[in-house]
Amino acid sequence: MNFSYSNKTQIQFGENSISSIETLIPTDKKVLVIYGGGSIKSNGVYDQVSNALKNHVWLEFSGVESNPTIETLDKAVALARNENADFILAVGGGSVIDGSKYVAAAICYDGEGWDILTGKHQVTKAIPLGTILTLPATGSESNAAAVITKKSTQDKLAFMNPNVLPVFAVLDPNVIKTLPERQLINGIVDAFVHVCEQYLTIKTDSWVQEGYAEVLLRSLIRLAKDYQHRDSSKWRNNLMWTANQALNGLIGTGGPQDWATHMIGHELTAHYGVDHARTLALVQPSLLRNQIEVKKDKLEQMGANVFDLPESDTLALDTVDAIEALYNSLGVATHLKDANIDAVEAIPTILNSLEKHGAVALGEHQAITLKVTQAILESAA
Ligand code: NAP
Ligand code: FE
Repeated sequence: MNFSYSNKTQIQFGENSISSIETLIPTDKKVLVIYGGGSIKSNGVYDQVSNALKNHVWLEFSGVESNPTIETLDKAVALARNENADFILAVGGGSVIDGSKYVAAAICYDGEGWDILTGKHQVTKAIPLGTILTLPATGSESNAAAVITKKSTQDKLAFMNPNVLPVFAVLDPNVIKTLPERQLINGIVDAFVHVCEQYLTIKTDSWVQEGYAEVLLRSLIRLAKDYQHRDSSKWRNNLMWTANQALNGLIGTGGPQDWATHMIGHELTAHYGVDHARTLALVQPSLLRNQIEVKKDKLEQMGANVFDLPESDTLALDTVDAIEALYNSLGVATHLKDANIDAVEAIPTILNSLEKHGAVALGEHQAITLKVTQAILESAA
């Protein structure tokens, strides 16, 4: 298939690389530094940022929560406008970076910010954004996507726009030393599902995209197997780089993409507060079994090339079992009951919410209707 591919984010990778923002951000910019609940204050990242910005004019906005809400982010928009900030530096995980993308775009739009999420407003302008990643998982640091929640209505929606692609991403593997284990594991799972959403569709015979996706999946499996070595710089470097490459646009070019697991997962976070990555593990194995016929060829390819499974009539199903076993080996639940979600109450809630968001024909074939989603969630129960 024809495609146009560009990813202009400059990646600054390596230990002690945070100081590079001193030259990455022009000194004539007024910088709004956005961060989360304070982990950067206790682990030294904030001090490194303020040291590096000693020749810049800057101000800060803190308190962006996990699964960032528009209610909080609109306060950052107001601050940026009042102070005439013209550069945003996001310091945090996917939530802070996604939230900062929204702020960068909403500053340039006079209407209701939520229009950006519903698609009523197509972003044509945003102020420049740089990122310092503290949690390898989402790939948000060098992609054009953001997921924002409206707390008042429990809506969690995504937007994608090239204008919010970060101009740089600083990836210093040292900063993840203070990550709670739960978040390290979330990173492996989220990145794994990101690759699957782009790879487990139809066979495209795109050797570069398929081959690179397989390398990334193998790397994530290796990180899970080597989990006891998570304190080594080798492990940290590989997690940081693999999670970044898993969702930077390359492996999805030219082919159809799925994203049904993410769409259903977003609803589980919005209504039950489950961590993003954990929702994906609850949905994906059941979704893949449900879609086994249309995904058979690619699941078989994944089984052979990624999990080294032997040829067999049940190879596609064996591959799904291997994916589920991978999550379970990290202590990640793959059934709603193990995440304390009451399926009887949750399934109609999720289906109503998907319908409200027009998410009634998901997946690369738009074959996952509400009825199919219901069947997937029933087997995930
Ligand atoms: P996160 O919500 O950004 O962060 C989770 C927690 O980790 C926070 O409590 C944060 O604390 C803490 N933390 C971060 N870095 C730390 C560090 N170095 N040391 C100690 N604690 C640290 O988690 P995430 O998984 O990266 O992001 C999830 C969000 O991204 C969801 O809303 C999801 O929908 C979205 N997402 C976006 C994309 C995309 O392409 N844009 C893709 C997938 C998912 P502090 O707040 O105190 O820093
Ligand atoms: Fe994700």
